[in-house]
Formats: sequence, structure tokens, C-alpha cells
Amino acid sequence: MQLEGFSHISLRANSPIKFEETLHFYNAFAFKKCLDQLRSNGKEQTNGDDEENHIRNVWLKLDTARGNLTNKLIIKLSLSASAVDCDQKPNEDVDWGLEEQVIVLITKDIDKVRSQLQELGASVQDVPESDSEKLYALDPLGNVLLFTNKLAFPGLLNEQSHEGVPASIEGAAQPAEQPRKIAVLTSGGDAPGMNPCVRAVVRYGISKGCEMYAVYEGYQGLVDGGSQIRRMDWKSVRGWIRVGGTSIGTARCKPFQTSEGRLQGAENLIKRGIDSIIVCGGDGSLTGADVFRSEWPGLVDTLKDANRISAEQAEKHKHLTIVGLVGSIDNDMSSTDITIGAVTSLHRICEAVDSINTTALSHSRAFVVEVMGRHCGWLALMAGIATGADFVFIPERPPSEDDWESRLCNVTQRHRDLGKRKTVVIVAEGALDSSLKPIKADHIKSILCDRLGVDTRVTTLGHVQRGGSPCAADRVLATIQGVEAVRAVLTAKIDTPSPLIISRNNRVATCPLMQAVELTHEVAKAIQEKNFARAMELRDPQFAEEFDAFTASTILDDCNANIVLPDHRRLRIAIVHIGAPSGGMNAATRTAVRYALNRGHHPIAVYNGFSGLVRGTMQDATWIGVDGWTSHGGSELGTNRHVPGIDVDMGMVAYQMQKNKIQGLMVVGGFEAFSSLVELEKGRKYYPSLCVPICHLPATISNNVPGTDYSLGTDTSLNAIVSSCDAIGQSARSSRRRVFVVEVQGGKSGYLAVEAGLASGANTIYIPEEGITLSRLQSDVKHLLAMYMDDDADMSEGRIILRTEDVSETYTTDVISNILKDEGHQLFDSRTAVLGHIQQGDTPSPLDRIRATRLAMRCVQFIEDHSSNALDKAHGEKQPVPVELTDCDESVAVVGISGANVKNNSIKELLPITDLKKRKPRAAWWFEHRPLVDLLSGRGMFTPQAQKLLAEEHNSDNSSNENSSNNNQ
Ligand code: ADP
Repeated sequence: MQLEGFSHISLRANSPIKFEETLHFYNAFAFKKCLDQLRSNGKEQTNGDDEENHIRNVWLKLDTARGNLTNKLIIKLSLSASAVDCDQKPNEDVDWGLEEQVIVLITKDIDKVRSQLQELGASVQDVPESDSEKLYALDPLGNVLLFTNKLAFPGLLNEQSHEGVPASIEGAAQPAEQPRKIAVLTSGGDAPGMNPCVRAVVRYGISKGCEMYAVYEGYQGLVDGGSQIRRMDWKSVRGWIRVGGTSIGTARCKPFQTSEGRLQGAENLIKRGIDSIIVCGGDGSLTGADVFRSEWPGLVDTLKDANRISAEQAEKHKHLTIVGLVGSIDNDMSSTDITIGAVTSLHRICEAVDSINTTALSHSRAFVVEVMGRHCGWLALMAGIATGADFVFIPERPPSEDDWESRLCNVTQRHRDLGKRKTVVIVAEGALDSSLKPIKADHIKSILCDRLGVDTRVTTLGHVQRGGSPCAADRVLATIQGVEAVRAVLTAKIDTPSPLIISRNNRVATCPLMQAVELTHEVAKAIQEKNFARAMELRDPQFAEEFDAFTASTILDDCNANIVLPDHRRLRIAIVHIGAPSGGMNAATRTAVRYALNRGHHPIAVYNGFSGLVRGTMQDATWIGVDGWTSHGGSELGTNRHVPGIDVDMGMVAYQMQKNKIQGLMVVGGFEAFSSLVELEKGRKYYPSLCVPICHLPATISNNVPGTDYSLGTDTSLNAIVSSCDAIGQSARSSRRRVFVVEVQGGKSGYLAVEAGLASGANTIYIPEEGITLSRLQSDVKHLLAMYMDDDADMSEGRIILRTEDVSETYTTDVISNILKDEGHQLFDSRTAVLGHIQQGDTPSPLDRIRATRLAMRCVQFIEDHSSNALDKAHGEKQPVPVELTDCDESVAVVGISGANVKNNSIKELLPITDLKKRKPRAAWWFEHRPLVDLLSGRGMFTPQAQKLLAEEHNSDNSSNENSSNNNQ
């Protein structure tokens, strides 16, 4: 017998007879075969070949549900001609308790075990004790087994997850005396992301020692009860992270709107001992949940009075905890910045409109695309911004003029006169004019056809918008909100209102559920009252700003918006790209150019970064020249890593700035852009032409620019990584039990690995903030072994580990994969996948395009704000415009996303919180997601001992690395 780490016990037989006897012996105690391997010369072969030099390994897992042994134990039984002699049994006369190695098996029924051993003809030694009973026995190989009904055997494998309650990696799992019983249900319209949400709820709940249930078919399942309310275990939700819709089903349920239906639902919950429900749905479903909770005491009394439940049950279930999560593709819930499913839906719309754009362009057609949103224009507006549509019609902001049709025709004609061949109009299904008359796609079509003679088609996207695998952002959102929902259940108080899990300022938060529902209903009311300002206000904070950005950057010379600046305020603004290309750079440039033109500025496109600038490779940017750039990936201007003052001569940069009379500079890029601003700021001392507003619009997939929560390109990249991981996982599952070590980019920033790890359900991640150690690898190997042994024999599960490229020079992707391959003991195999430049993505994601539009407009405004004083002064004094427009610290800044807002942070402010050597900010908001990757992949299922080791390892890593502990915050 050999103990291999904590993961399994290895037994060896040297003859087929002994092997079969042993197999029979352990089968009698409900050890189930989970894998049968035949190896020869290190290679796996099919069963049936029994040549002498072959080794047969059978993995046996104790089926605690079947037998009367209760501990989780895995045994590897090998048949090998070279195994040691099995007949060296311990002497019957000595106390077997003194043997060095004993396999401990815990049972509640020692008498039954005794009779089983008798039937098997096994040798037995009884050891009666006052507080428990022990029984020693020998298996056919002579190994000593200790059967006991006493549970305390610290340090032994047998102790693991005794009650089927895995401990949490967070160390907070306290198997409660009475575990909380929590049910999750999805209701109303389905939304992509509901499955990752249910997965997170179930797994996090289990890790916290709760019993988890799923109510199938929404409230209908609650009313019907029976098999519609099912216990969920860790594996029930395996693979759900990538599946669209909701696998536990959803329904619209009339009976739940009646008190009899809700009474039935209450009875079904109480009879199963369920005390809390997590509901993921729209405002209707959440209202239903709140009605249920408010009626609960009455429902319990009625059930008790009718003898449908006992007095004891009534007492135990006095209170019901309800927590809401918003699953809605419309993003129509007030109080939250974003709802689960909305971004995926936007992906579907943008894919469709991008495709329509190409046919529209080919035939010089107009397309009117109808998208979902009866009371909410979020999808229509965001799709309009992301696809560069010409017009958008939404319920909350009707066209200001009564005769909007004439304006539509004027603008369309003006754009076509400039050479534009396509016209795309996006209309929300609930779009209204200012007198609340619906604006319908067919009406828009007839206007364009009849008045302008443009060949116009209508496309109604319909249910396509609900479909498909959830995008990376929805997977992350649903996961962290699902975790938060369980936390909210566990901390809920009897007298506080039911909480709703929301997203505010890029953080998960809670608010009273009914308050959010009421505010949501107020939007429809405000629209009916023609109070459109209030309707806009009730949407997320960016909504109104984004609507203005759309209009200001889409319609040329929009006299309605009247945003043109007086002559003396107009500037020559240069736009330059630097660093690696990332999704959204072109969208940002397009918005900057068009917004600048609409303000009366003179935008200048600089080609090939700062090295292009010093050569004077630049040209005036035109409105039509940037047409269609929203959906273009890469960098249309061309980019490289040359930083002024380091790779290119600062004097030449200043010379070209002066020669071309550049009065504002917008630098789009990653950390090189940040370094460029640092150098340009230094250069101001020597070169007056650098004393103009200079802003940095962050764009890099590594998300390592200080002063912003997100850089452009990160979302595109995450989606590229996540869909690659989905494909890799599929291959890994299809071929055999295989672990893929997937290498992702990010330099010294683990952002991509953490977020993609969370979104793809990776087994674990290796990131620069933590590094890799040998003991960490050992613990990961053990974890993988434990997981594969826990799998069903006929399952071929694929698993993924993400490794950031710069995490370690020693433990390369190949080295890790080879270690896993060797240590997999034939239980699993390993391969590598280096994603490389695929991670830059093809077409930018909708979120990157939207962020690009918002940030680009703010960049132009930043340049205006920091030049206006000098321009007004010169104008007032009738002086020529000076070369130096500003030299204040604030005029060299990163224009970044901070929560729901856009914030300018000067380089001076950012330098102290930047690690220039590691090229990243010292702290990172996303680091709080890190523990969830391991936790939700089943790290909590591992032995407590190994968890402790892992935790100690993490602690020592963190204390030895100051910067990494900074990043932990
Ligand atoms: P959504 O949740 O997407 O807004 P619905 O409005 O159709 O979808 O609501 C879904 C389900 O929630 C309904 O079929 C019903 O069972 C339940 N429900 C909605 N409103 C109430 C209510 N006021 N009382 C009880 N149940 C309700």
C-alpha cells in the first residue's frame, strides 16, 4: 500500500487472481470503478491484452450513496507482475492497530460491516472502545483496514468533506448545524448569462456549506413542485458557463399570480426545507418574488391551519429570504448600470448590422433594423453607436421636432452627397415620436423610398437577439453577481427589504429590490407623461451622455445639436496611435474626427505613430475618410512602439508639432502611450510647441494603463480568448481526458488571465501578480488528479489552465504542460495552446466600440477645455494665437474610465501609483475576482490539508513580494 499525497491510495497486486479478489472485496463495500487502464511501455492500450509486462490500473471511488461507508476515498488498484509479494500479511496475534499504514474507513453501521467481512471471509480484529467501535480487517492483499464509527482522524484523507460539504478556499466554510437550503430559479424572458449565474450560485452556495436546489421552469416549477425542484451538486452545473439561455428553464406562469398558486409554491418549498430563493429574471419576475416574500407569513399560517404543514415546519419557516438578480437583454432595470444578458444581445445585433452594412454598401441601400426594447432604448442606442448607424429611434428620447421625417431625409441626403453609399437606421420596437405615436420600421422605409428614392429594406432581428453563448462580459457579470446573491442570502436580515444584486460604478452592489422595480416602472410612466428628461435620468448614468455622443459624432453639421464653436476656439488636433493594435482604436479615431469636425476643429491623422509624426506623415482627416471605422479591427493609422524622447527624437516631434501648428494631441495606445506622455511632459521645459493639451486614450488588451478601469481592446481580447478556450475545451473533452495549458498575453498584468479564467471556467490561472512556485504546481497537480478521479469513468473531461506569458522564465507553458503530463499518472494528458496575436481579436467588440466613442469625445473636450483660456485671452486682446496654449500639469492626462464615469487623471497624479518597471498600476480593481477562478472550478473540493498548504504558499508569496501584495488590494 502506498499513500500518494492526499489524493488516493495505491494498492498493488502481482497476480490476476489476487487482483480480482481485491476488486471483488472493495466492490462489496461500494467502491465503484471509475477508470480502467492498461499500460504497456508507458503507453495506454485498450483492455483485453494481458501480457505479463503490462500494468493494469483500476481506479475505485467509494460510492457513499450506495454502501454504508461515508468517507470519500479513492483507491488505485494495480496489477503488475513486478509488484511486491502480496502474501506478507500482518501476524494475526499482534495488534493491527500498531501497523504503520492503515486504511481508515468510516461507517455508521459497524455491525453491518462486520457481517459483510464475515461473508467475504476476511480476517478481523475487534477493538471495542467506550465511545466508539473499531474493527480491524485485512483486505485480500494483506492491507490493514480500520472500520470505525468515530470520525476524528485528523490529518487523514478520510476526513475530507465528510458530509459532502467541500470546504471553501476562502476558509470561511463552516458546515452549519443545519445547512441553509437555497433554491435558484430563472424566470421571465431568457437571457444569455443566466446559466453562468446559476452555476456560480450553485457552486458558491455549496462552497459555503449550503444545500443548493434549482427550481426548473421558473415559478411554474415552484407551483408544480415534485421533480421540478431538484437538488444540485457541484457537477450538475458543469459546462454551463458557455451555454446560452437557461438550462433550468423559464416560463411565464399565470398560477403564480394567484394566491393559491403561491400557497402551493410555499408548501413545496417548506416540505423540502428550503428557506431562501434567488430569482434571476426581469422586473415582472422580481415583482412576483417580492409579492411572495411579503405574503409569506400569511401563506405559512394558512398552510399550518389547513394541516398541510406541521407546527414545527411552520415555526422553522417563519421567514423566507429572497434575493433578486436581473436577467434581461434590454438593460431596462433602473438602479443597475447593466443587466445580465444585455451585452450578449448587443453582440448579436452588432454581428447582424455589420453584415447588413456590407450588403447595404454593395447595393447603395438603406436598411431599417428593428431591435428589441419595448420601453427601453439601450439596445438600439448602443447598437447605433457600435455600428456607426446613421439614425437611432428610442422610446426615452423621441426626435425633438414634429417633422422628424424631413430631418431624416435631409441628413440622409447630406451624408449621401458626401459619398456615403449606405444608410442604416436602428429603431427600438417601442420607439415613439414626441406625441407618443409609435415610430415603426415600415414607416421609416416608406419615407426613405418615397421621398429620397433610396432602395430601403427592413430587417427585424427578433429572437436572434436572445440567443447564443454568453459573451465574456456577461459571463463575468453573471458569475460575480451570482456569488454576491449567495452572500446576500447568508447575510440577509429578517427585517431588511429583499435585496437586488446590481452593478454600479463597475462594482457589484445591492439595493432594495422593490425600489429598483418601482423606479423601472417610473420610466414607462415618465414616457407616457412626455417627461423624457426624467425617462433619460432613470437610465444608467452614461445613457444620456452616450446619446449625445452618438448624435454629435454621427450627423454632419447637425444644426439641431448646435455644437459648433466660435472661430477663435477652433483647433488643429492631431491623432496618433502607439503600441500594439487593439480593438476600438479605429472607432475612437472615427468619433474624435467626426466630433472635432462638428465642433469646427481641424482633425489631423498622423500615420505610423511618433516615428511617422517626426517624418511629418500626416494628413487632414475627413468625415467620409473615417466612415465604417467603428467595426474595423487593428489600427487604420498604423502603429508602432516608438516613444518620443526614447526611440524618436523629441526635438523632431516638437519641430513637426510647430510646423504643422498642432494645438492638441490625442495619443491612442497602451503603456507606450503613457510613457510618451511622461516624456512629452518632460520635453515641455525645452520645447514650447509641446505646451498644448495632450491626452492619452487608453487602448491595450493588457489593461495595464494607470488611470482607467478599462482600456480599449480588453473586451475584444477577452471575447477572443474565451471563444478560443471554448473551442480548446471542446477538443480536450472530445479527444480524451486532457488539460490544456493556454498561454495568454498581458505582459506583467494578469488581467486577461483572471477575467478570461473566470469567463471560461478555467481550472486555475498563473499570473505575474502571484508568480509560480514548485509547491503551487504540486498542489495543482494534486487538485487535477483529485478532479479526474472524481469524474465518472465514461466522462472525458477537458480542463483549461491559463498562464500569462510573463509569469515565469522557469515554468514556461511547455514545462508546466510536461509536468502535468508526467504527473497525470495516465489519468489525464496535457497539451499547450499559445493564443498569440489571435487575442487582439478581429472585429472590435460592441463594448470596446462604445467605450471608444465615449472616450474619444471626452478627449476632444479635454483638449478644448485646456486651450480655451489662452484662446479667449488672445482673442480678447486681439493678439495672434500663441504657440503655448497651456503648461499646467493637468493638461497632460489619461482620459480613462472610472466606474460609470470618464475621468481625466494627470500624468503627475498617476506616476506615484504606477510601477514603471512592471509597466502597470500598483493596484488593480480586478484582482478581487482572482480567488473566484479557483473556487468556482472546484478548488474547494480539494483536501483541507492541501488547501492549507496552498493558502500558506500564497501568503508567503505575497509577503515576499511587496508589489504583488499591493495588487491584492
Ligand atoms: P420578466 O421577469 O422578464 O419581466 P414577466 O413580466 O413575464 O417577465 O414575469 C415573469 C413571471 O413572473 C410571470 O409569468 C409571473 O409568473 C411572475 N409575476 C410577474 N408579476 C407578478 C406579480 N405581480 N405577482 C406574482 N407573480 C408575478
